[in-house]
Parts: sequence; structure tokens; C-alpha cells
Amino acid sequence: MQKILISSCFLGNKVRYDGQAKSLLHPQLQTWQQQGRLVVICPEVAGDLPVPRPRAEQSGDKVIDEFGNDVTRAFTQGAAKALALCQQQGIRLALLKEYSPSCGANMIYDGTFSGTRIAGMGVTAKLLSEHKIQVFSEQTLEQLINLINLQEKQTS
Ligand code: SF4
Repeated sequence: MQKILISSCFLGNKVRYDGQAKSLLHPQLQTWQQQGRLVVICPEVAGDLPVPRPRAEQSGDKVIDEFGNDVTRAFTQGAAKALALCQQQGIRLALLKEYSPSCGANMIYDGTFSGTRIAGMGVTAKLLSEHKIQVFSEQTLEQLINLINLQEKQTS
């Protein structure tokens, strides 16, 4: 059974910078959870950042928080832990939260804290993808469902 690495905030865990969750309400997630398919991580918490924490955005190669502090190291540590978890458990698929400076799969904020989104990947999403782990987001969830269904059919 293919396991899926999933952003912790999708499952109702209050780990976001603002101390809230970002629950992804889709019946498929419940099914996957019951099957034991989901492996949960918040890369920012894994990188030892607190909850709540200042907002952060990528700026060039760095991640800077809203007070101007360079938090790149915590983000790269969290990404490394997410990758290690995937490698330990043979995970090839990830479902991550779009727009996050860690988890964003296709879009992130532009580093100006003005709410402007640009094409790009979060630090964790990018590292996973560089190691051939396919990264999906809430916007491409249907593609992930189709892919898993297809794989299950081929192996049954
Ligand atoms: Fe959710 Fe990822 Fe942000 Fe953690 S780092 S709160 S899992 S989007």
C-alpha cells in the first residue's frame, strides 16, 4: 500500500503560524487515514519552530519572518526531517498545503508580505520533489486520488 506524507494542518492539527489548523475536508482523507496510509508531518514544527510563530515567506534562497529574522535554517531542518521520514517509510507521494513557505507545491508568497502569490515551491515541497517524491496539494487532490486508484487497480 502506497503511503502518503501529509501536511499536519490538513488533518485539523493546530500547527500553523497563527495557531490554527487548515482542515482539508474530503471523505477520501478519512478513508486513507483509516487505511493507515497517511504519515503526518508539519515541517516547521519539525524544524523546532513554535506555535504560534511569526509569518514567514521565502525571499530568494532564504526564508525571512515578518520581523526580518532569517529563519532559513529551521525551514531546511524541517524539510530534511520530512525527507528522512519519506526515505525511512518508502514514501513516494506527498499531499502538502499550497502557498506555505514550507509546503507550497506550486505557489508561494513572494517575500513582500503583501499577499502576493507567485509560482514556486515551499522548502520542503522542493526538497521532496528533488528526491523524486511526487508532491500534490489541495488543488490537485483529485489527481492524487486518481493516481492511487490506478496503482491499486494495476496491483490487484
Ligand atoms: Fe501546515 Fe506545512 Fe504550514 Fe505546517 S508547515 S502548518 S504542515 S502548511
